[in-house]
Amino acid sequence: MRDVIVAANWKMNTTPADAGELARTIASRIAEPGVVRVICPPFPCLAAVRDAVAGEGIAVGAQNIHHELAGAYTGEVSAPMLAGLATWVILGHSERRRDFAESDALVGRKLGRAVEARLRPILCVGELLADREAGHAEDVVASQLTGALVGHDPETLLAAGIVIAYEPVWAIGTGRTASAADASAMAEAIRATLRSGGWDLRADAVPILYGGSCTSASIGEFLAEPGIDGALVGGASLKPDEMAGMVARAALTAAARRAVS
Ligand code: PEP
Repeated sequence: MRDVIVAANWKMNTTPADAGELARTIASRIAEPGVVRVICPPFPCLAAVRDAVAGEGIAVGAQNIHHELAGAYTGEVSAPMLAGLATWVILGHSERRRDFAESDALVGRKLGRAVEARLRPILCVGELLADREAGHAEDVVASQLTGALVGHDPETLLAAGIVIAYEPVWAIGTGRTASAADASAMAEAIRATLRSGGWDLRADAVPILYGGSCTSASIGEFLAEPGIDGALVGGASLKPDEMAGMVARAALTAAARRAVS
C-alpha cells in the first residue's frame, strides 16, 4: 500500500521569525496520522519549523540541495548539512530547472546525494504548456525521469522512499490545474517508464503526487484517481485552512486504502 502524502512547498516565503508560528498553526489543523505530512520551508526556517512540529508526526523537508558534499560553492547547501534539520528534500522543481538551469543529469546527481544523506527525495517532473499542446507531454516527462534516474539502483531508491511529483509547469502558481484524467494518465505513463527502465513491479510501489495550483477544493479530484497518492502544494500550503482541508481529504483516501488492503 503506497503512502498518501501531502507535501507543502513554502518556496521563498516566511522568515525564521514567523515560520514556527505558521507551522504550529498548520500542525494543529492537520493531525491525521494516516497521511504522510511534510513541510518544506526555506533553509533558514528549517530549525524553526522542526521545533514547531516536534512530536506531531510531521516531517520537515528542504527545497533543494547541492550536488556536491562541500567545497567552493558560495551560497549553496549540501545534503549532509541538513542532518538534524530535514528528513525530506524536493529535487528538480521546475522553478529550479527554469531559474538555475538544472538539468536532468544534475538532478540525478542530487538524487544520489539525497539518498546517501538519508533524505527522502521528492523528484519533480513536468512538461511545459507547449509540450502538452504539441502532444509531447509524456515523452518530456519520460525523458526527465530517465535522465535523472540513469545509474541509480531502483531497489536503493525504493528503500530511500523516493516519491515522484508530477507538476505540469503551466499549472504551477497559475490557478490552472491539470485535469484529473490527464494527471492520472501521466501517473500511469511515469510508472510505465519506470517499469521499462528496470524497475519492473517496483514501479507500483512508488508514490506519485500531483502538483500545480492544488487546493482543498481540487485535491479530491486527484485523490479519486487510484494512481495518484497525494499532492505537492505551493501557494495553498501557506494557508492553514487550505492545509487542513487538503489533509482531511487525503485522510479519507488513506482510510479507504487501508480498508481494502
Ligand atoms: C509547487 O511549487 O510545487 C506548486 C505545486 O506550486 P502551486 O501549488 O503554487 O502551483
